[in-house]
Amino acid sequence: MEKIKMKTPLVEMDGDEMTRVLWKMIKDELILPFVDLKTEYYDLGLPNRDKTGDQVTIDAAQATGRLGVAVKCATITPNAQRMDEYHLHQMWKSPNGTIRSMLDGTVFRTPITIPLIHPAVKFWKKPITIARHAYGDVYKGVELMADEPGVAKLVFEGESGKTQEIVVHEFKGPGVIQGMHNSDKSIRSFAHSCFKYALDMKQDLWFATKDTISKKYDGRFRAIFDEVFEASYKEKFSASGIGYFYTLIDDAVARVMRSEGGFIWACKNYDGDVMSDMVSTAFGSLAMMTSVLVSPDGKYEYEAAHGTVTRHYYKYLKGEETSTNPIATIFAWSGALRKRGELDSLEELSAFATQLEGACFDTLTEGYATKDLVSLMEGVEPKQLSSEGFLAKIREHLTKRLNA
Ligand code: NAP
Ligand code: MG
Repeated sequence: MEKIKMKTPLVEMDGDEMTRVLWKMIKDELILPFVDLKTEYYDLGLPNRDKTGDQVTIDAAQATGRLGVAVKCATITPNAQRMDEYHLHQMWKSPNGTIRSMLDGTVFRTPITIPLIHPAVKFWKKPITIARHAYGDVYKGVELMADEPGVAKLVFEGESGKTQEIVVHEFKGPGVIQGMHNSDKSIRSFAHSCFKYALDMKQDLWFATKDTISKKYDGRFRAIFDEVFEASYKEKFSASGIGYFYTLIDDAVARVMRSEGGFIWACKNYDGDVMSDMVSTAFGSLAMMTSVLVSPDGKYEYEAAHGTVTRHYYKYLKGEETSTNPIATIFAWSGALRKRGELDSLEELSAFATQLEGACFDTLTEGYATKDLVSLMEGVEPKQLSSEGFLAKIREHLTKRLNA
């Protein structure tokens, strides 16, 4: 079989630990035998980030801006223990944080669902994608303890000299105070990323805040979403047969629980933090959760939502057998290849991505699984495989599909 050709390279960001091991196996077993793979390779493994003073992360983010599509392996975000373990020069920032702020992007997380794993919520038939606004609010909040009676005020001093002032509370005794912010620019970028991704996925977009209580703050979010939708997306949405739906956050939660799924739920920063853990847990396993960063000008970076699976890596280093789930990382590759195929009008490449995902579903449907999925599967006698054994099964199915 002739290998599938590519035009534009993907930005390939390698990573750490067990996912770095899987990364190489996925490429060797499932991609390189079938695709004449073109990538611009950036080694975001912690030793190389340390060696380059984290320049490699910046270079990789810039390459994503230039080439438009990236695929990323999970990476270690260093903490004190990692400083010792890797003899680091500095406690480097989270690569995901650096890339996200450079691309000004929004992260969309979607569970990979299979008929043998039933969501905890019985109504859910299709995946629910969570889009979390990743800037501001309580995450950039400032806080004070009021340790005696007194007045708390919110003051804004404009550059023009104009000031605005409002009393937060007149304290009769001790208490707490918090100030938080967001910017129109960040909210607008978030809105563009959400509307673009909904069009891409041909799924409805839901957005919810508490603008009945927070009339100015949450009201601003709602107004910007409305304005961006009216100005740039309304007609495209109706041409695609999808909708934009705004409601209050408590109403959204109730509707989500009774829904069939199959839509994108845009959340403010805190709501997204909480709801993404709720949705991913209810759908099954972190190892079955994909993640894509979408910038407001339509650049895409695909990855798995999970981390580097450190515990499994230490077993691997001791020569013990591992059973680590590669599905979300494979779907990062298939997502990136499909998008590259779409942008370069390479139907064969996009079709390969679909076959690769199909081979994963075939394998799981036969009951072959990694350890994490065994206890979740219903209606089959699951057969647990090692990391290598599971990938070999997927390759069998992929070969069968491509020769069919
Ligand atoms: P993790 O790597 O996601 O793993 C947590 C646990 O979840 C694992 O120990 C394992 O449970 C299970 N798990 C996750 N992915 C799995 C898979 N593919 N197959 C089977 N089981 C899986 O999170 P962590 O241990 O908190 O973090 C490890 C490192 O990853 C940290 O250094 C962190 O900075 C980094 N991290 C990176 C990203 C990213 O790059 N996007 C995201 C999160 C964390 P059992 O051990 O019970 O089998
Ligand atoms: Mg969280």
